[in-house]
Formats: sequence, C-alpha cells, structure tokens
Amino acid sequence: MSYAKPLPRIDDHSRPFWDAAKAGHLMLPRCDACGSFHTYFEPWCNKCGHEGVHWERLSGRGRIWANCRFHKIYFAGFEKDVPYNVAMVELEEGCRLVTNIVGLERGTLDEMPIGMEVEAVFEAVTPEVTLIKFAPMASAGDAGE
Ligand SMILES: [Zn+2]
Repeated sequence: MSYAKPLPRIDDHSRPFWDAAKAGHLMLPRCDACGSFHTYFEPWCNKCGHEGVHWERLSGRGRIWANCRFHKIYFAGFEKDVPYNVAMVELEEGCRLVTNIVGLERGTLDEMPIGMEVEAVFEAVTPEVTLIKFAPMASAGDAGE
C-alpha cells in the first residue's frame, strides 16, 4: 500500500498542524499581537509583522469562498482523478485554505457553490500524514439561516 500523490514535508514549524490533523483537529498558528490566523507555518505574522505566534484549535467550519475544476495533471498521482474539484474555504475564524471538497456525488461545481457551508474531514493517507479536506456540513440540507 503506497500513496502515490505528493506528501507534505513536515518540519518543526508545521508539525503542530499535522499532529492535530492526525488527532482529528484543525489547528493553525495565530499571531500573538493582532490575533489573525495564518495558513503558512512561520513564526511571524505577515499581517502586522509581529514575531510570535501560538497554535490554536479552530472550529473546522467554513464556507466555500472560491471553486474550480482541475482538468490538467499538475502532480504525479492525480492521473485517475482529473477532472477534480479544488476549493478555497473561508473558515469561520476568517482565514482561507485551499482544499478539496469530498462527500459530493460527482464533485462538480454545481454541487459545491460559493457560500456553501462545509466542515473539515480528516483523511489518513499514510501512518504519518492525515490530510484535511472539507465536506458539506451535516446540517446543510436544513433551512438556511
Ligand atoms: Zn499579527
């Protein structure tokens, strides 16, 4: 059993993210000064310039902010997947992550419109790496608010 797609290089800066994913949580670095969350793994804030971040657990909930389909094979291992969906999800806490939307029948864009509520799901692809993807919120079928 081997995983054919690219895997992250886990280092000291990114390890908390991957350890949390393995445990079924979404964690990101948050600036000690301005409070913004980051989706890059460096010990400084690119919003206010402060040097100093801490890790915080997020809700894992958000909305689709942008969506598209990849028809080209950009990375080895995706040959059987094209075309596949790619989305940018805006988390409740305000930052955005690039991800895939799973749990759709066909994975087409009409099934994952901008604004749709989604939540993080965790896919263990190797003993070390659990990927975070997003799926429609369990209550998404209920009346909108
Ligand atoms: Zn900051």
